[in-house]
Amino acid sequence: MSETTNKKLIFTKEFTRQEPIPEAGIQRAVALMQSGRLHRYNTADHEISEVSLLEKEYADYIGSDYCLGMSSCGSTIYVALKSVGVLPGDKVLCNAFTLAPVPGAIENAGATPVFVEITKDYVADLDDLEQKASQSGARFFLLSHMRGHIVDMERVVDVCDRLGIVLVEDCAHTVGCRWNGRFTGTFGKAGCFSSQTYKHMNSGEGGLLVTDDDDVIAKAILYSGSYMFYERHISKPPLEVFERHKKKVPNFSLRMSNLVAALIRPQLSDLDRQCKRWNRRYTLLASELSGAPYFYIPKRPDKEGFVGSSLQFTLTGVDFSDVEIFLDTCADRGVEIKWFGAREPVGFTSSWESWQYIEDRQELPNTRNTLDFMCDFRIPLTFSMEDCSVIAAVVKQVALEIFGTKDNNHLLS
Ligand SMILES: *Cc1c(COP(=O)(O)O)cnc(C)c1O
Repeated sequence: MSETTNKKLIFTKEFTRQEPIPEAGIQRAVALMQSGRLHRYNTADHEISEVSLLEKEYADYIGSDYCLGMSSCGSTIYVALKSVGVLPGDKVLCNAFTLAPVPGAIENAGATPVFVEITKDYVADLDDLEQKASQSGARFFLLSHMRGHIVDMERVVDVCDRLGIVLVEDCAHTVGCRWNGRFTGTFGKAGCFSSQTYKHMNSGEGGLLVTDDDDVIAKAILYSGSYMFYERHISKPPLEVFERHKKKVPNFSLRMSNLVAALIRPQLSDLDRQCKRWNRRYTLLASELSGAPYFYIPKRPDKEGFVGSSLQFTLTGVDFSDVEIFLDTCADRGVEIKWFGAREPVGFTSSWESWQYIEDRQELPNTRNTLDFMCDFRIPLTFSMEDCSVIAAVVKQVALEIFGTKDNNHLLS
């Protein structure tokens, strides 16, 4: 070690602490509880339910024809896959870096994931997509915008059109995000969003499915459990479309409750402002870390209208065996970093190798190599700009301590 004795920096705030629900949401939720009308179809004459209002507002916000509120994003993915025609035994392409509910939704639809490699910038490798599509004959691509990283969407649409592949987008982490000015979730047949606590709008649990397709929305509404009250939706196709499907589509009972919609609606009105607040924090953290030794942070493309509610970086020029020591030391100093390189699934983090219910073992050397050195942490809006500076300082200090002792003493100056 160098002679310099740096004071150990410590961060003390919680990475899992979200902001309170906006007062308007709390008031509306209380009024609903007083009325007892919590079920979306429990409406008085001519009354429009909270869930129906949210669906209309969300469809208008992102510019899609239709929206359906459901119980979680995982359930919207499952229902979207069924509604666009995935049948048991089908293969569904999916980028391998994603969250466990995504392969879970494919499994739930009776289909098998065919994993696509990711690049060093954490997005789906579109060359590998083409190759896997040809090899497997899969007709569906479930693209997961994991941790808010958006791949070149023009190219995705081009590949899907050329190969006759139906695109479904998992936008759990891209609420409020755009590619080249257009919202994610509107590039394919259906888009799936989350309002789970750790995403961009917090209702505890919740999912929103969007589509421009009359048959897809009618089937999704029926699958979600409409009890044949689908005429009470505002965001819906002509009623004859339901006639085509209503006796063929089972009721999976995955509805959204009015209470959930009441919490989301005021957060939707405030979403763009919140996204800017995330991006100020992200930009500060990314600029502090990008210049430092051992850190690689992908440059975000100009077309990527991302929301930096979490930050990922790759440790470079370090030994794999030191990564865990780095993470443990950061944790000791109060900075909780998640690691998709871990061999065992922990908390929210698991990699495709631990989804062993998928029988077909798939080797993905590039994804493995990227995940081995990729670090990931949340940026809750309860963190101030100053907090973000402290986090950056802690992480840089730990990196110098752990990695700098080997042959880089000069970096400690
Ligand atoms: C959170 C998340 C999901 C699942 O959302 P839930 O609402 O918890 O079901 C799916 N995909 C990604 C990328 C996510 O981050």
